[in-house]
Amino acid sequence: MGTIKISVLLFVVLCGVVRIAAQTPQTNKQIVIAASTVLDGKGGVLHNTRIVVEGSKIVRIDPNATPVNYDLRGLTVLPGWIDSHVHITWSFGPDGKNAGAGGTTPYATYAAAANAWATLMAGFTTVQSVGSLNDLPLRDAIARGALPGPRILSSAEPLIGSGEQSGTPDEIRAFVRKQKEAGADLIKIFAAGSVRRPQMLLSQEQLNAACDEAKKLGLRTLVHAYKDAVRAAVLAGCTEIEHGPLATDDDLKLMVQKGVWLDPQAGLVMENYLLNKDKFAGTPGYPEEVFPTIKEMIPIFHSFFKQALKTPGLKIVFGSDAVAGSHGRNAEEFIDRVRDGGADPTAAMVSANSLAAEALRMGDQIGSIAPGLEADIIALDGDPIKDITAVRRVVFVMKGGIVYKNAPR
Ligand SMILES: [Zn+2]
Repeated sequence: MGTIKISVLLFVVLCGVVRIAAQTPQTNKQIVIAASTVLDGKGGVLHNTRIVVEGSKIVRIDPNATPVNYDLRGLTVLPGWIDSHVHITWSFGPDGKNAGAGGTTPYATYAAAANAWATLMAGFTTVQSVGSLNDLPLRDAIARGALPGPRILSSAEPLIGSGEQSGTPDEIRAFVRKQKEAGADLIKIFAAGSVRRPQMLLSQEQLNAACDEAKKLGLRTLVHAYKDAVRAAVLAGCTEIEHGPLATDDDLKLMVQKGVWLDPQAGLVMENYLLNKDKFAGTPGYPEEVFPTIKEMIPIFHSFFKQALKTPGLKIVFGSDAVAGSHGRNAEEFIDRVRDGGADPTAAMVSANSLAAEALRMGDQIGSIAPGLEADIIALDGDPIKDITAVRRVVFVMKGGIVYKNAPR
């Protein structure tokens, strides 16, 4: 009985494949976008110009290009945002409760596809998903043009630190190689507990093995770390620290010296737990008793964000840590960073544009409005530099030369 229903649904999905694939841009067909204000993704602003797109790429910036296909004058045009830290498959289940990121039922699968759609509609044209093998088929379906969604980079299965049980250095190296074989674009490592229990879950030797093996394979390493684990990950040669509170000023200075990226959070993830308390409380990993303490944790994240901003030369990227309930609301993290964390609005935009692209080692492909780059272009109704809440009003989304959203004005 259920099987027939599933087959019908699959047929509908396959029909959708054909339609969306047909939207693949024709090479040589030129699209001209007129704009009065363009944030170039690197901190610069262009006025009264036109962006010319051919196929999936921006080919030139030319104020005289005609004919205009999309008139975005009066809006703020910028590169599609990059969220360096999401959990794209993480959803609420049919009972409305937190179902985590690992579900493989048809319900969970469609929920993940819906997360991807919501994320793209919110202006995020690339995301880095850190923590589930289920990311991979979704990533590949989107890359084929079979489903609409952001470009996804995935860590496949994360290395979850659990002391000696995490394995010997050789076993850890084998785990890293296994993720590469499974198709991981990067390696995600949990090296510490939480802000409440920040103890290290991997030894220095284990971290050294994980980050060294990844480096040999050409993969970046993103390390969930608090307190002492921050320094240990930096010393191990890992690429990027996720979260980071309770690290010292000296730890942050060492990150600058070693060129390690930081992806801190200034609010959305905690606010989302409070907003969806009834859906999370009592589900695995979310005991009821932690909820009263979440409010107390928010200032710890704010003060760490400010501490990071005060560290000269520290490369801070945008990552929302979107879980169930925050897909499509990723941009709320910009508001938290600017309003509560004191970030400069231009720096906040760049942290999700060229800087994030550089952290992904994709700066020559995405993150800027420049000839030769992918045509990932969004427009906001408002100016985020003057009013950061404009990030909530994404009215135009183009990814790889295809327009997915063009809301009437
Ligand atoms: Zn996360």
